[in-house]
Amino acid sequence: MHELSITQSMLDIVLERAKESGARKVGAINLVIGELSGFVEESVRFYFDFLAKNTIAEGAALNFKPVSPRARCRSCDQPFELGELYWSCPQCGGSDIEITAGKELFIESIDIE
Ligand SMILES: [Zn+2]
Repeated sequence: MHELSITQSMLDIVLERAKESGARKVGAINLVIGELSGFVEESVRFYFDFLAKNTIAEGAALNFKPVSPRARCRSCDQPFELGELYWSCPQCGGSDIEITAGKELFIESIDIE
């Protein structure tokens, strides 16, 4: 049910921005979704269709832009891309890492009409 609440807040933001811009209709919503965020595109789409009914965002296209997970080593400060096999630093082999990208889900932009 995680996607339901996040989709609701996303829709609230979209409707608010659209209203501020005097939009009659929302054509598309461009979302950035981290591969580690745990959000499933299909679920977000499903809830969106359901929640957006009878709003100006009904029928809007959802475009997802995936973000690859990245991390930074706390020992040597090396930034690197997290792969399935790389959960330790490629430079010093340390495992004290900080995830710097890949957990996000946010609205990059919306297209209004
Ligand atoms: Zn390191």
